[in-house]
Amino acid sequence: MQFIDLAAQQQRIRQRIDARIAAVLDHGNYIMGPEVAELESALAAFCGAGHCISCANGTDALQLALMALEVGPGDAVFVPSFTFAASAEVVPFVGATPVFVDIELDTYNMSAESLQNAIEAARNMGLRPAAVMPVDLFGRPADYEKITEITKAEGMVLICDSAQGWGAQYKGRVTGALGDITTTSFFPAKPLGCYGDGGAIFTDDPEIAAVIDSYRVHGKGTEKYDNVRVGMNSRLDTLQAAILLEKLAIYADELDQRERIARRYTAALSDQFIVPEMPQDIRSTWAQYTIRVGSEAQRTRAQGALKDVGIPTAIYYPKPLHQQTAYRDFPRDPKGLENSEIAASSVFSVPMSPYLTEADQDKVIAALMSLRINDLET
Ligand SMILES: *Cc1c(COP(=O)(O)O)cnc(C)c1O
Repeated sequence: MQFIDLAAQQQRIRQRIDARIAAVLDHGNYIMGPEVAELESALAAFCGAGHCISCANGTDALQLALMALEVGPGDAVFVPSFTFAASAEVVPFVGATPVFVDIELDTYNMSAESLQNAIEAARNMGLRPAAVMPVDLFGRPADYEKITEITKAEGMVLICDSAQGWGAQYKGRVTGALGDITTTSFFPAKPLGCYGDGGAIFTDDPEIAAVIDSYRVHGKGTEKYDNVRVGMNSRLDTLQAAILLEKLAIYADELDQRERIARRYTAALSDQFIVPEMPQDIRSTWAQYTIRVGSEAQRTRAQGALKDVGIPTAIYYPKPLHQQTAYRDFPRDPKGLENSEIAASSVFSVPMSPYLTEADQDKVIAALMSLRINDLET
């Protein structure tokens, strides 16, 4: 059993991908070829954003967002501690200061209460609260209603890191069109992945879109050798855009499959594990199906037992960012980041992909339930 089965998806669309790749080889426009613009329009339409600008990867997407919003030295950017390092690493790159915020244990997403504490702490340190960067962790949209309210009240900008959750649903809207800027990643294992690195940025603001388009091509002005700002080289390859066009065509169907599998897992596992419960008006992309147990020792036992019967599991993420060597000296919510620490020591993710068979789902469920996890020592 695979943790994420990319081969089954490829089998489904291999012929169409081959044809798309052949078309690129025929026209030869490997950089910013016609498939790039075609993909950007299709992505913007899918989530209802005004503009989509593709780029080289999800990390660059975050950095380009900060650059376009002119976040820099003296600015505080609020980031959850329980996330992938890329969410925070772009902040010092633009000269700003990441300030770590705790999560809610029932969603693994940024806590609005902790955000308030962190804003106050940043201000007391002489930093200007500039941007909030919630993460749609494991595919579940962050608590945007509360976070947007705080962001607006403080005159900040909202950058949604939807590397895992692009295309999820939040109270009748789709992630990608919820903040001032939304970013995503097409890393192969993400819900919408390509066959290499790729990323995209979404905004409704045409001026921000134009600035990002300039930054991703060396700060270009009206033509290629006219440089009006210090930019980057961060374009999406035409070949990756071509592949993504075929993957996007089946993405909505794949999200339905993921939802079906997640519901099955939840119904079967909720007696013995802390499972992700979704309210009616929120739908995850299920980038990961992540469950929680009572202790690190229980987790080790559970992962070992699954491994023994050939079921792969993974821990996202074993160490919160505020405890990492590279990030431990940055400011944080002074009340502490206890939920991030609890999550890091007690969550694990089980196999999830749209092509996980019912037989394999049953195998995962049977292996987990036979543990009688609550009878194990914590
Ligand atoms: C994957 C990921 C990124 C970075 O994307 P890359 O394309 O790998 O650079 C950023 N944030 C989160 C939450 C991610 O999961």
